[in-house]
Amino acid sequence: MITSPQPAAPRRKRPSPRIAKIVRVSRLTPHMIRITFGGESLTGLVSKGPAEHVRIYLPNEQTGVLTLPVPGPDGLQFPEDLERPKSRAYTPRHWSPEINELDVDFVIHGEGPASAWAACAKVGDAAVISGQPSGAYLPEATADWYVILGDEAALPAIATLLEALPSTIEAFVYIEVFNEREEQELPSLATTHITWLHRGNEHDLPGLLLVDAMRNVDIPQGDGRVWVSAEASIMRKIRKQLLEERDLDRSDIRTQGYWKQGDLNHADNDMGDDT
Ligand SMILES: Cc1cc2nc3c(=O)[nH]c(=O)nc-3n(C[C@H](O)[C@H](O)[C@H](O)COP(=O)(O)OP(=O)(O)OC[C@H]3O[C@@H](n4cnc5c(N)ncnc54)[C@H](O)[C@@H]3O)c2cc1C
Repeated sequence: MITSPQPAAPRRKRPSPRIAKIVRVSRLTPHMIRITFGGESLTGLVSKGPAEHVRIYLPNEQTGVLTLPVPGPDGLQFPEDLERPKSRAYTPRHWSPEINELDVDFVIHGEGPASAWAACAKVGDAAVISGQPSGAYLPEATADWYVILGDEAALPAIATLLEALPSTIEAFVYIEVFNEREEQELPSLATTHITWLHRGNEHDLPGLLLVDAMRNVDIPQGDGRVWVSAEASIMRKIRKQLLEERDLDRSDIRTQGYWKQGDLNHADNDMGDDT
């Protein structure tokens, strides 16, 4: 059979990045800073559900200059003759379309450009945010229970997930943070049992306590789901436990590596499918 070459599929157009302004900076805890972005350019941003993410573009680390997108035939786009700025994935913690304000909570972990940028961010600074959030996780409203595990980087996503759970669900939540000063209020309509795990040691890989916690969780009866986001190797250890020791169905668990020890800009879509 003679086959003719297929025309290349049209490239999916990425929504234009948005140029926002920092309108507030608040220190939530010693290691978590909330930056509130605002401005007309956020008009039309649509939240599709909890635990989604946007990309925050960062200034050049040597020059401190943030490359701004410029108007092009398809809206704002980064200039083709300049290096595209680095970006990192962050969870929209609150989006208020009526006042065009977007809160994003940054862990100040002390190493990467995003953490360093957030630690020095000032009201009035310009910021560039990807066009639309993506990757929302829509909770199973008919489930009986949820087991939710995560570290500091996952805490904003966990907060959005708990805010989205209906009152009929019982949620067992394990969050590893540095110490008790990193704990936050986590409102939910669901019945929540929140366990804060304190690492207390700057040298331990964040998330090791989550692996132990999962080992000791009594999986409740009924229809349930497990949601885990953490450092990539920790996420894989927990995923392996869930599949091999707990015999849970792949479709009932959602795991994601939010960052990876020693890796810069770890992939946004590391769901641990290789485990
Ligand atoms: C879907 C998604 C949502 C996310 N939401 C949030 C959020 O709301 N808030 C948030 O703070 N993070 C969030 N993250 C994680 C964040 O994208 C990463 O932590 C990112 O690596 C930070 O960029 P950086 O420039 O500071 O560090 P990078 O340049 O990426 O890494 C530099 C070094 O720092 C280490 N490192 C990176 N992150 C951490 C960390 N959290 N703790 C300890 N060491 C780290 C790396 O291993 C590397 O050695 C999210 C990630 C994903 C995929």
